[in-house]
Amino acid sequence: MAMMKALQKKVKGPGLELCQVEVPKIRADQVLVKIEMAAICGTDLHIYNWNSWSANRVQPPRILGHEFTGRIVQLGADVTGLQAGMLVTAEGHFTCGRCYYCRTGQGHICDDVKILGVDVDGIFAEYAAIDAKNVWPLPEDGDPAIGAVHDPLGNAVHAAYTHCLTGQNVVITGCGPIGLFCIALARQAGARRVFASDVNDYRINLAKKLGADYVVNAQEEDLADIVHGATGIGADILLEMSGSRPALASGLDALRKGAVVSLLGIFSDQVDMNLDAVIFKQLTLYGINGRRIFDTWFQMEAALAAGLDVSPVITHRFSFEQYEEAMALMNSGRCGKVLLIP
Ligand SMILES: [Zn+2]
Ligand SMILES: [Zn+2]
Repeated sequence: MAMMKALQKKVKGPGLELCQVEVPKIRADQVLVKIEMAAICGTDLHIYNWNSWSANRVQPPRILGHEFTGRIVQLGADVTGLQAGMLVTAEGHFTCGRCYYCRTGQGHICDDVKILGVDVDGIFAEYAAIDAKNVWPLPEDGDPAIGAVHDPLGNAVHAAYTHCLTGQNVVITGCGPIGLFCIALARQAGARRVFASDVNDYRINLAKKLGADYVVNAQEEDLADIVHGATGIGADILLEMSGSRPALASGLDALRKGAVVSLLGIFSDQVDMNLDAVIFKQLTLYGINGRRIFDTWFQMEAALAAGLDVSPVITHRFSFEQYEEAMALMNSGRCGKVLLIP
């Protein structure tokens, strides 16, 4: 029986273990992928830390991880259109195909979604079984590190491209990887001014690197003042990536009347919002969940082919054996995207 190493949540509770497990057997509609590069998502960190969401959702033993680049090494009997040796990543949401949302082109909000590395075994392993319909082929000459961040880059594309960014004043609250991707997307789309805010110096520096015009340390400066000062009227678009209540409040204050908002950052508990701001400013709020399947993926492919450079967001690489160090770094927030190499 072929064995492989994998980072597994063995029992309920904090932590993770590097284990020897069997190489997964694939179904007829799946492919076996040899993982070349994995990226750690906030979701993986939540499961590692065992927060209340993961305690309710994840059933150990479970191999974590859903962001990867790998090569197809085996095809299920029913798989067509893919070949062994192809460099690929995948959409990590396995949709049911039967519910109302799947049948109306809204698979990203499927009622019965199974998430890779959450509900089924993931890719923090040498090999993973992936549904063929979810596989996304990558350019052969592409950077595998960029392939490994398609999932969060797709979240950013979904949030940012919900609006036309060209010529607009765009505010991005929260400069974690997805916020940083949004800066690059706004720049590429020809935004007039890009404002970014965070409270973490490391991420503030990354935001400058990605090309934000104004990077605000929200602990020291007032975002809304700076945006109104620069624009005279307020910003057109807010991309809320932080899940922080003060950031949301100052982001809303920074907007002009008739502005639009994408909400992607997840708030740890209930948010009391001053709806007067929404009503009297006539704001439009969009909730952003996952990536549109596969509209977002085609948009992301086009943005990358046109030269979108998100490589500064990828700041650290670790081996699987160094996973504790990688998770501690993620918990510190002094990083962009962190990769794990099997
Ligand atoms: Zn992710
Ligand atoms: Zn569905």
